[in-house]
This record gives sequence, C-alpha cells and structure tokens, in this order.
Amino acid sequence: MPNRDFSAHAVLVTGAAKGIGRGVAGAFVAAGASVTMLDLDDEALRATAEELGGEGGRAVPITGSVSDPAAVERAVAMAVERYGRLDVVVNCAGVVRYGDVESLSVEDWELQLDTNLKSVFLTSKFAAPHLRAASGVIVSIASVQAFVTQMGVPAYTASKGGIVALTRSLALDFADDGVRAVALAPGSVDTPMLRWSAAVTAGDEAGVDEVIEEWGRNHPLGRVVTVDDVVNAVLFLASDEAAMITGTTLTIDGGLIAQVAVNR
Ligand code: NAP
Repeated sequence: MPNRDFSAHAVLVTGAAKGIGRGVAGAFVAAGASVTMLDLDDEALRATAEELGGEGGRAVPITGSVSDPAAVERAVAMAVERYGRLDVVVNCAGVVRYGDVESLSVEDWELQLDTNLKSVFLTSKFAAPHLRAASGVIVSIASVQAFVTQMGVPAYTASKGGIVALTRSLALDFADDGVRAVALAPGSVDTPMLRWSAAVTAGDEAGVDEVIEEWGRNHPLGRVVTVDDVVNAVLFLASDEAAMITGTTLTIDGGLIAQVAVNR
C-alpha cells in the first residue's frame, strides 16, 4: 500500500512562493508535513504560507535567497528549532535568463549558477546532519535542459546539468547514512516562470497562452507539464516507496526528449 502520510515529517522547500515550489509545499502540508518555505519574494511567500498553512502553522515562511549561505543556514535552523527534525529538502528555487555566452552578462551567469546550482550545495550542506539523523531525502528540480538544450540558455543548461551531476555525488556521499538524493527533469511546466518565458517569445502578454499551447504540442503527449505532474513525482520520490531510488534523475516531459526532432 502506498504510504503518503508525511505527518511525522519536517520539510524544507525552496522557491516555495510560486510555481512548482508552491505546489510542492501545498502537497506536503496536505499530506500532514510541517513545511518551512524559503523564497526571495517576501510578499508572495507570506501570502502563500498563510493560504497553505491556515491556522495550523504547518507552513512557515522565511524570506531570503537560496544563494546566500547565511539565509539557507537560517532556514534549516528554523525548521529544526520549530519541528525538531528535518526529513526532506526540496530544491525548487530557480531562475532563467536568456543570452548566448557573448551577450549574457557575468552577473546573469552567476545569478543562474548561484540560484539553481550553488543553492543545492548550500541546502545539502546545512541540512546534512539533520537529514542523516532522519535518513532523509534531497529532491532537486533540474530540467530536461540538463540533457538537451536550445539556443541562448548556456548558464541555465549548465546549472541544470550540474544539478544532475551533483545529485549523483550527494547520493554516494550520503548513502552510508541512508540519505537519498534524487533529481527531476521536467519539460515545460505551466508556472509563472514558463509564462514569463512565453511572454518573451511572444513579444507580449497577449500571446502567452498560444505560445504555451504550441510548446505543449511539441511534447508527444500533447500538452505542457502541470505543477501537479511534478508534485506527484516529488511526493513519490520523498516517500518510502522510493526507498531504493537514489543518485538518479526522473524525466517528466511527456516524451519531449525521447524524440530526435520536434516533428509536430
Ligand atoms: P517560478 O514560477 O519562477 O517560481 C520560482 C520561485 O523561486 C519564485 O517564487 C522565485 O522568486 C523564487 N526564487 C528565485 N530566485 C530565488 C532565490 N535566489 N532564493 C529564493 N527563492 C528564489 O519557477 P518554476 O517554474 O516553479 O520553477 C521551479 C524550478 O523548476 C526551477 O528550478 C526551474 O528552473 C525548474 N524548472 C521549471 C520548468 C518550467 O517550465 N517552469 C521546467 C523545468 C525545470 P521570484 O519570482 O521573486 O524570482
């Protein structure tokens, strides 16, 4: 029988104010977990935490950047002080900026590498003793861009490839302690980030739905990925049902990268 009861679990979710992180935080709260939510966007984070946690206080916001060691250390400490343990870390915070290596600024290279990849190092580093005590799990959201890519996203694709490689390393270094590390590689997921990318592609807000529908047709299953598609995989991978799954990356892309060329 699947056991998706996380009521004994404390979970840290980064990028939890919006998009995939928000969905993950909500699903863990619904499954009984106590969730600490780290995000940069203070206003959105507080609103999300209030909505998800209700009066139970099981969704606690902490504002800060995942690329700031002090902020990550604080978020881990807050989870442990409040709930006495930390069982699951879900790394969802991420950013994308467009431009090839000539046009991309050094600042935008660093922003993407720091937010998307260094963050996984930092959460793992500070959560390590607590995850060890709980035989916990690190789940990180990479992207299909770790395996295939498109023009104009060198930093994003490097950061996502880095997550896949780092996940293997974490899995080996933590294996003796019973801690697992897994990554997910979604195709296009309908979130504020995707809508921003679609607006860039369309040239205006009005064309966003049309662009997303077109991207959906490029996924062989005929649509873009939903936040729930990703959330379901996160909860499975964080559960005991996935007890022998570590060091690997699960693709959630409706067959997008199974094809040699977009042929629809
Ligand atoms: P999203 O809608 O933009 O949500 C990401 C959240 O992370 C936002 O609230 C964002 O705040 C926050 N954030 C950004 N930088 C941060 C930082 N330094 N510290 C703390 N929080 C920060 O993005 P999403 O689409 O849900 O993406 C979640 C993850 O999935 C990312 O790693 C992304 O690369 C990955 N992914 C997304 C897709 C997709 O198609 N959407 C596909 C594959 C993989 P701000 O809004 O203030 O920046």
